[in-house]
Amino acid sequence: MSKDKLQQAIDTLKKAGVRITPQRHAVLEYLLTSMSHPTADEIYRALEGKFPNMSVATVYNNLRILKEIGLVRELTYGDDSSRFDSNMNEHYHIICNDCGKIVDFHYPTLDEIESLAEKISGFEISHHRMELYGKCADCAEISKKVEV
Ligand SMILES: [Zn+2]
Ligand SMILES: [Zn+2]
Repeated sequence: MSKDKLQQAIDTLKKAGVRITPQRHAVLEYLLTSMSHPTADEIYRALEGKFPNMSVATVYNNLRILKEIGLVRELTYGDDSSRFDSNMNEHYHIICNDCGKIVDFHYPTLDEIESLAEKISGFEISHHRMELYGKCADCAEISKKVEV
């Protein structure tokens, strides 16, 4: 992550009139640095050492604000708790069936699907979702070891 990205995000918050508390700054920085699509709980655990008075509710509250401003998006895959992604560019996700890890997958957006669906159904398509599922390299390594 470049420093510029954090600075840009902070400028966006300032423009939106959002106060930049130390916690909010830390949550934002963690999201921009982490490529792991963390849950609110993971963010909380990563930052509780630095902010002993911070609650999980504070993390949620900050995530909600960042989401409203468009700096973060919430991912809801499966029944587990939401994960958060600070990469606002269009991209797909590959999800590990074993450990739940989510990795970014950059592939040209499938616009043709949307226009074809519009033609066929008469719907005005707003968006589509696609996820790919499999076993990540780490989990494949573990299952290899178990077999031996
Ligand atoms: Zn895995
Ligand atoms: Zn992502």
